[in-house]
Amino acid sequence: MKSLTRYSEAALPTSHGDFRVVVYRVDQNPNDEHVAMVRGDIRARQDVLCRVHSECFTGEVLGSLRCDCQEQLDLALRRIAREDSGVLVYLRQEGRGIGLGNKVRAYALQDQGVDTVDANLALGFDADLRTYEMAAAILRDLSVDSVRLMTNNPAKLRGLEQAGIRVTSHVPHWVEASAENADYLRVKQRRMGHLAAVSGSDSAAPANRPDSPLDSMSPQGSTDRGRPATNVTTLEKDASG
Ligand SMILES: [Zn+2]
Repeated sequence: MKSLTRYSEAALPTSHGDFRVVVYRVDQNPNDEHVAMVRGDIRARQDVLCRVHSECFTGEVLGSLRCDCQEQLDLALRRIAREDSGVLVYLRQEGRGIGLGNKVRAYALQDQGVDTVDANLALGFDADLRTYEMAAAILRDLSVDSVRLMTNNPAKLRGLEQAGIRVTSHVPHWVEASAENADYLRVKQRRMGHLAAVSGSDSAAPANRPDSPLDSMSPQGSTDRGRPATNVTTLEKDASG
């Protein structure tokens, strides 16, 4: 069982506004760090605006247009800043969990005409290796009672609920498609069950609808969420080494 420690935190002014950055370390591997970007006092709050975002080095650092990760990240931080309250959990699990090198190998396969799902399968990985247990552990550590989750991915909604976080509503989180990523976004809808931004449209690229109605998903009545698989301990003082 993995456990996390709240390792450090500080104020972090950003181009989107002021946040508090909180860094968590996986106890079993100190190189494995995850981040929460917190705005406002979210402790013991209901319906906290939340995004669980997975690292995308190619999109967020290198400016790749093969995906929409950077725009989704920016949109989430903007929305949280606009509400003046919320949290973005940033999981450092590149390429849906397969790592950077394998993600680029998958890109090479996609350039030969294989879609993103089949490329991962061809490399011997499941379509999506991400788990949300760490995100749930971080939200629990931040004392968040329930979230409005910004996502288009039903698996993420289910994953967080299964990990013990109450998702009270689903906030669609589409960004503008570009010529380079339109195919990728369509595959996410068709193969991975991501919710379409425009219902009834199978050819239109997802539209930018940051202010669309929030509650398209009713809360699940599930109360038996099982035991959290990931725990967080708060570090009292700086751990060296
Ligand atoms: Zn990406």
